[in-house]
Amino acid sequence: MSHTPDDPEQYVCESCQITHVGTPIHEPGTDFAEHDYEPPDACGACGGTSFVRIEEWAHHHE
Ligand SMILES: [Zn+2]
Repeated sequence: MSHTPDDPEQYVCESCQITHVGTPIHEPGTDFAEHDYEPPDACGACGGTSFVRIEEWAHHHE
């Protein structure tokens, strides 16, 4: 799978395995070439708060 820097990070809910797009973090005063992303505070489907990056999730299930 190719990786494009502009693609947002995706996270998988550990409880219901729904994929969520990460929230871009924009910190004032910083000028990073790549944006950082963070998982949502809680899963909109099940309310869970444990997320795994989709890249790591894929590794777990190879
Ligand atoms: Zn969930």
